[in-house]
Order: sequence, then structure tokens, then C-alpha cells
Amino acid sequence: MKQKISKILIANRGEIALRIIRACKELEIKTVVVFSEVDVEGVWVAKADECYPIMGNPIEAYLNYERIISMAKKANCDAIHPGYGFLSESAEFARACEENGLIFIGPKPEHIELFGDKMASKVAMKKIGVPVLEGTDTPVVDVKEGEKIAKEIGFPVIIKAAFGGGGRGMRIVKQAKEFSKMFESATNEAVKYFGKGDVFIEKYVENPRHIEVQIVADKYGNIVHLGERDCSIQRRHQKVIEIAPSPLLNDAVRKELYRVSIKAMFRLGYESVGTVEFLVDEQDNIYFIEMNTRVQVEHPVTETITGVDIIQRMIEIAGGDKLKFLQEEIKFRGYSIEFRINSEDPQNNFMPTAGTVTKYLTPGGPGVRLDTSLYAGYELPTCYDSMLGKLIVWSLDWEGAVKKAKRALDEFYIEGFKTNIVLHREIVRDDEFRAGKFNTGYLDSKMEKFN
Ligand code: ADP
Repeated sequence: MKQKISKILIANRGEIALRIIRACKELEIKTVVVFSEVDVEGVWVAKADECYPIMGNPIEAYLNYERIISMAKKANCDAIHPGYGFLSESAEFARACEENGLIFIGPKPEHIELFGDKMASKVAMKKIGVPVLEGTDTPVVDVKEGEKIAKEIGFPVIIKAAFGGGGRGMRIVKQAKEFSKMFESATNEAVKYFGKGDVFIEKYVENPRHIEVQIVADKYGNIVHLGERDCSIQRRHQKVIEIAPSPLLNDAVRKELYRVSIKAMFRLGYESVGTVEFLVDEQDNIYFIEMNTRVQVEHPVTETITGVDIIQRMIEIAGGDKLKFLQEEIKFRGYSIEFRINSEDPQNNFMPTAGTVTKYLTPGGPGVRLDTSLYAGYELPTCYDSMLGKLIVWSLDWEGAVKKAKRALDEFYIEGFKTNIVLHREIVRDDEFRAGKFNTGYLDSKMEKFN
């Protein structure tokens, strides 16, 4: 089963490409990157051992998997790391890698497929005994039928794209008369962004916290969790700040989240890293909402409090290594907070911004980690996601972590275009945030105050 991985092609860009290169360097694995024509100046391109351009459409460059696989073979790679986004959740790509004798660094294609469909994954998890929200088990196609189901569930409900992600294709419906309009717009958005219009309905939870469990599983049935992350600080259902561990989570709830996550992954025979996402309501009921079968943007906060390098372990698992640690050996230390740094203007409805970095001063010192591919003089391409990187801080206690964040955010200076750093500075000064009291409605409700 064990296969030696000595050269990896990274099918991604930006901060995550750089993160994977760093992990590989420490493991003494050679790296190959493919890059689009607008990414020529990317720092990760310079840091990889080999780099090959893919001309044409700059987004297609990272999605054209036949091309990527043929380049990996030509460059004598053993494996491909997909990062997050792009091809990371394509079962078709994972299968194509296997068929071409390349190791896909990620889970089995059947698990990518299952969890790519939020509705099917809810059904599978429910069967295992994981609590899920009341809702439909099959796609809702007829608006009248949908309205009837929504009435039975009881308003408010949420209409969700089965194949959705990134907070898209979701609509909250507060009352029956809004249903048909919301149904139509959720379906249209689902078609536009995900190519499939399937939607389902589930009960909408008021003021929940978003808590997710990081799983690491090898090919031999050994599974451990690396604790939880609190991703409740969101804007329009998109994560903005992530925290490990969750500051005010009841210990019994925490243990239950770990228990059901491990049980489900064991039953399904999951391997690689993955994240089981839950909503926790005000009465501390837990509900599984989805599973992400890739490394997540927010993985560094978990690495910070556990000392486990998630990307390195992911590579070793793909190569057939056994997990090198038992659950009891995982020690959780202190608090870590991650701030997503986006090129967007908080004063102008978070519209994406672009330009050249004319001045760049980065935070540093004890307890500060910066994962970004930005540098002074870098010209930001406009065609990709606005996330430029992440600032991660650590301290032994929550108060210390917030103070550290304040200090690090104040040190961070990017000139050339607007970023959301100003918003982060306001959040860390807010009394409720400092008290650890927040749910998924926190940021949207504070927007007026922060502007
Ligand atoms: P995506 O895959 O687009 O990120 P998720 O299903 O993970 O979508 O949900 C993203 C966020 O949307 C959650 O963290 C939560 O804030 C909100 N959300 C999703 N489902 C519900 C629900 N049933 N009730 C309340 N909020 C929800």
C-alpha cells in the first residue's frame, strides 16, 4: 500500500500553493507548479522546484485537468495536491489521477462525490445517527410542493443548493408569501454558480454558532480529531474569522461533536483530512450541515493549537503512511484566531479592489503567523478570489489572543488598494467579540456600527 511520494504537482495558486510548497520542502519532496499567464509573478511560482505555464483563460488554467495530469506525468510527479477550491472537490479529477497512475492527495472519489451533495450527505449522516436538521431528502422541483413542505417544517426555512458552496445558492424564507420568489432565486443562483439547479429545504436555525471538527484519517481505519473551530464570524454566510477552540462552547457539546464526527468517518471508511461542519443552536442542540473533503482555508488555527502540520500529514496519508499519533497524544494548547485578509472595500459594500502593492509592512513577533503570497510590488490579478491570505495569532488564553490580534492587525499595512484589515481592527475592539459572545448573525448585525 505504501507508495513513495518524491515529487508533487500543486494544482492551485496563491497562499495555499505556497503553503503546500513549504510543507513539501520540510518533507524533502520536490514541487511542480502550473501557473496561468496572469500568475507569472506569483511568489509560489518562484519558490517551486519546477514551474510550467498554462496559457489561455486564467481560471480555466487551474481547472483543465487533462492538461494538468499530462503535465504531472511529463514532469515525473508521483502525486497531485489540489489545495482548496478549483479541482479539490472534483471526484472526476480524483479518478482521472488514479487512472493515470498519479496519487490524488485527498479522500476517495466516492467520498468526494457523496459529500459534494449536501442533501445526500445529510441522508447518509442521519443513517449513521448524526443529528441533522429537519428537511427534504430529495431535490425539490415544484414550487407549490416546496411551499407545502416548508409549511410542514415551519417557517423560517432555508432553501439551499445541493451542490452549493461559499455561501451561494442559499435563501432564508421567513414566511409563506416569500417562498416562490426565494425558491426561484436560489435555483437560478445554483444553476449559475454550480451548473446544477437542485435545491433542498431545511429548517432555519436562529442565531446558531458554526462549529466544525477537523478529522485526520489514514487508510487503515485510524481516525483522530484535531478539535473544533468556531467559524461563526461570517458575512453573508461566508467565513471571515475562524477560532480554535470555540471560546464559549460547553464541554459536553464539544465531546459530542467529536464523538459523532469520528463515528461517522469510521463508519464511512473515510481517509485523508476532512472537516465535519455543524450548527449549534442556542439550546446547545447540534446539527450536521455539511462535510468538506479537502484541506480548508482555516486549517492553520488547528495547526497552531495542536502542533500538527495538517498538509504534511495529508501527504503522508496519501502515500500510505499510518497515522503517527494516537488521539490521546493530541494536546490542545491556548487559542488561535485567523483573520482572512481580502482585497475588498468595507466602506463600499465589500466590493473587490485591485492594484499594485506599493508599500507592505507585515506583522511579526511571538505568536504571529502570516500565510500569504503578497509582497511589495506585486500586482494583484483581478480574476481570482479576493482572499489574499490569512493572519493567524496564538496566545495561551482567549484574552491574550485578542490582544495579540489587535497588536498584529495594527502592525499590518498594505498600500495600493483597500483591504478588510480595517474591519478586523474594529471587530477585535468590540466588547461582544472580546467576551467570546458571537453567533453567525454577529457580523451582519454589527455592520452599521463598524462602518
Ligand atoms: P456553504 O457550503 O455555502 O459554506 P453551508 O451549508 O456550510 O454552506 O452553510 C454556510 C453558513 O450558512 C452556515 O455557517 C450558517 O451560517 C448558514 N446556514 C446554513 N444552513 C443553515 C440553517 N439551516 N440555519 C441557519 N443558518 C444556516
